[in-house]
Amino acid sequence: MSITIRHLGKRYGERVALRDVNLEVCDGELVCLLGPSGCGKSTLLNIVAGLLDPSGGDVLIDGESVVRTHPKYRGIGMVFQDYALYPHMSVEENVMFPLRVGEHRVARREALVRARRFMRLTGIEDLARLRPGSLSGGQQQRVAVARALVQEPRVLLLDEPLSNLDARLRLSIREEIRRIVKATRVTTVFVTHDQEEALSIGDRIAVMDRGVIQQFAAPQDLYLDP
Ligand code: ADP
Ligand code: ADP
Repeated sequence: MSITIRHLGKRYGERVALRDVNLEVCDGELVCLLGPSGCGKSTLLNIVAGLLDPSGGDVLIDGESVVRTHPKYRGIGMVFQDYALYPHMSVEENVMFPLRVGEHRVARREALVRARRFMRLTGIEDLARLRPGSLSGGQQQRVAVARALVQEPRVLLLDEPLSNLDARLRLSIREEIRRIVKATRVTTVFVTHDQEEALSIGDRIAVMDRGVIQQFAAPQDLYLDP
């Protein structure tokens, strides 16, 4: 699935958070959105997810506009900075949860089979019965990724997913996220303020500053400040 962002604008009152943003993410591509805090990365991601309305412009998934589509029907999986796991549920229940709610809910047995597949993919199958509170940051992160993927979304959005992990873990988990994205062929947007991180995992990188996309290119073709 491709994502096309056209002339997207967003204001919060007087403050302009996004200004004429245009971006095309190809099917199966991993694009990093790179920029300093406050440049508009979360705003852009939340508009694609349907959690926020744009002030102008359009978002298309596989050529179809989704800006008036409810978030539930956009086929998007999302991982937040704080993971947003359900503390009272086990790991397995967390991963199954999206399959057990709403009108397309599947039977418990089927949900379990699917959840286990993504728990294997993310390496958390041995943690199934534990609660998120007893897991390390890296393990919680994997649970959030498994939960985001379990509905086999068309698009995966990751908002600074590594920022709460220590430096060594960030290195290994980012490689793993890339492996998982490529294994599932899900079209992915990965938000980060870390240049090295973006360069190491992105197929292409969109460099943002003050609500504008300044460059959009493969790592080797970017002009970056030393
Ligand atoms: P980033 O994710 O790159 O840190 P954000 O998208 O969170 O950037 O924010 C972009 C700009 O919009 C910032 O100046 C921020 O202060 C402002 N902003 C974000 N959310 C709101 C809001 N709900 N109300 C007012 N201003 C906001
Ligand atoms: P980020 O990790 O994206 O930088 P922030 O800490 O900037 O997140 O923002 C956290 C929350 O506060 C978000 O929901 C954002 O929309 C909101 N927010 C950010 N800036 C403002 C602002 N100036 N006024 C009101 N809400 C804001």
